[in-house]
Amino acid sequence: MKAVAVIPKKQNSVHLVDMDKPELVEIAGGRGVLVEVLSIGACGTDREINNAEYGVAPKGYDFLVLGHENLGRVVEVGDKVTDLKPDDLVVATVRRPRGSSIYDKIGEQDFTTDDKYYERGISRLHGYMAEFYVEDADFLVKVPPSIAEIGVLLEPLSIIEKGLKQASDIQERLKIWHPKTAAVLGVGNVGLLAVMALRMRGYPVHGFGRSTREGYLNAELCEAIGATYDSTEEMTVEKSVEKYDQYDLIFECTGYSPIIFDAMQSLNENGILILASVTGGDRTTDQVPSDKINQMFVLGNRAMVGTVNAGREHFEMGVKDLALCEAMHPGWLGRMLTHKITGLENFAQVFDILNNSGTHKAIKTFFEVKPL
Ligand code: BGC
Repeated sequence: MKAVAVIPKKQNSVHLVDMDKPELVEIAGGRGVLVEVLSIGACGTDREINNAEYGVAPKGYDFLVLGHENLGRVVEVGDKVTDLKPDDLVVATVRRPRGSSIYDKIGEQDFTTDDKYYERGISRLHGYMAEFYVEDADFLVKVPPSIAEIGVLLEPLSIIEKGLKQASDIQERLKIWHPKTAAVLGVGNVGLLAVMALRMRGYPVHGFGRSTREGYLNAELCEAIGATYDSTEEMTVEKSVEKYDQYDLIFECTGYSPIIFDAMQSLNENGILILASVTGGDRTTDQVPSDKINQMFVLGNRAMVGTVNAGREHFEMGVKDLALCEAMHPGWLGRMLTHKITGLENFAQVFDILNNSGTHKAIKTFFEVKPL
């Protein structure tokens, strides 16, 4: 079968490989599921791996099959699988409990403290940019056919859901938690999913991006789902509180780390800032009013938390939000799927769009490996 792989740590090494079709016996205990891949999303992580910024090949291989944003159809199940059957649609989670930390041992591997982690398509395990994969049923989340068209958005959404779950767990300290205003910084594909998830909870949401409003599809999507959109070129986040008030919740999805200091100063008392950008560079920033920020956090009981990867429960939360959004705003999620590339052999097009997403005006680029 065909798969798309890179040679980790070698720049721009993305290429097609020919592999054996995987088999159920590869998964012990009769819990194996053979899945035919339908669609695979491509994101900044795939771009960075192909840029040799990170990514680790599985033991015994010099290449790593990419792909972690996935949707597939069950072909065959092992004799101990009762929760899935052929033809079911599934999305696989990304991280596996192969580490040595206590969190791996209790099935909370998304909170692993190990430096060496095991993520399909990213680190030490082949991913889903292939025609088939096998997986233990424990790591597959069933998706209803009604959201099949946009099911490939579930994995990126799961990161947002984990952030929101952590925020609500932390905010239990308050006994009452009804955010009156929320802000989302960065409205690329992850930010737009954050806007959506917050709107599904009924919060007033203010989206921010660098681009100006005119002709910017992402801004239009914010407004179409009942959020506002402002360009930070015209109004900084800190300044925006004069218009919208301080935010009870801020979700940071820009990938531009200096903005977090602006965000910290725009939080309301008792508010929470959730950070979701992986910023692998070495950017620094000065002119941070540290006394002011520290005082705000101490005297105002403010909180800040990071979110990475996601557990099964966050995928399940995401299924509900995708279904609710489709019911409330039919077609909105589909508008995020701006660039569909048919066939894994056309990987070069996918990476061209990823490397030049501004010029392509791409929100979500994905492979259609097999039509639904
Ligand atoms: C994936 C996460 C993963 C993270 C770090 C993200 O793109 O969605 O599942 O934990 O990259 O590798």
